[in-house]
Amino acid sequence: MSPPDPTDPIAARDHAVARLQCPVCAGMLVPDLDSAGDPFAPILCLDCERSYGWSHGVLDLVPTDQRPPARQRNHALTGPPVPFYRFFEQSLSTQAYADTDAEDQLYHLLDWLDYRPGEPVLLLGCGEGEAMRLLGEACGDSLLVAMDDDLKELVAARSAQVRAGLPGVFVRCDLDRPPLRPGTFSAVMHFGVLHSLPDAQLHLKRLSEGLPPGTRLVGVCLARSTLEHVARSQKALEGQSGFRFVPMDDLARTLVRGGWARFRHEQPSNWMARFQARKPG
Ligand SMILES: [Zn+2]
Repeated sequence: MSPPDPTDPIAARDHAVARLQCPVCAGMLVPDLDSAGDPFAPILCLDCERSYGWSHGVLDLVPTDQRPPARQRNHALTGPPVPFYRFFEQSLSTQAYADTDAEDQLYHLLDWLDYRPGEPVLLLGCGEGEAMRLLGEACGDSLLVAMDDDLKELVAARSAQVRAGLPGVFVRCDLDRPPLRPGTFSAVMHFGVLHSLPDAQLHLKRLSEGLPPGTRLVGVCLARSTLEHVARSQKALEGQSGFRFVPMDDLARTLVRGGWARFRHEQPSNWMARFQARKPG
């Protein structure tokens, strides 16, 4: 499949939809041919015949009768709880990291992503779209697909992307089980989501099964501290916050046992880690 023209919304949609599958039956999705020429034509499952619509330009792959379990999205550091990206900025401003600028951190992740021009890129955890805008600027000749489970944030993210003249297809889905056709994305950014899933290791194991050889997966999450006293405070927080600080060493072992060639992580703050995993091939 040749790279889509990111300025053509129908081409981008078709290339994105070809990489997705029905969240209910894993069937093939296609745009409704009765609405040819409409970039927001309903998306049909060829197997179970469900129809998925668009909301303010966001493809909604959450079936009305099968809502995923609620996921804690708001993070409190100082002051009121905020979405992950703002929490990320606040954390960096405490100077616990070498970088104090969120955008620098994102560029670091982008470097680890080892992006190849024209290659489709998947962002899991779009939020209000800060990372998606960076991807749009840095990887604008590629198909970019952003997923999240919050429609309101996705709509805000998409409007900002459109206003900035940047490409991207935005999809609401269950982030724990993203509806991806196997073998379709080899560059994946996982942004501020792992710690809010019921079981990060199980999620990554499932996700990896659908990723092709040579995939690079990079991300940021709240990580379990290797310092015992910090880990104890985190444990106490887990009950109240709904988050599970991810044990990065365990995660590394699981991924390497599951056939990944490499996993590295950096945990400069002892609360948050950035990571990179690479599949052989
Ligand atoms: Zn289906």
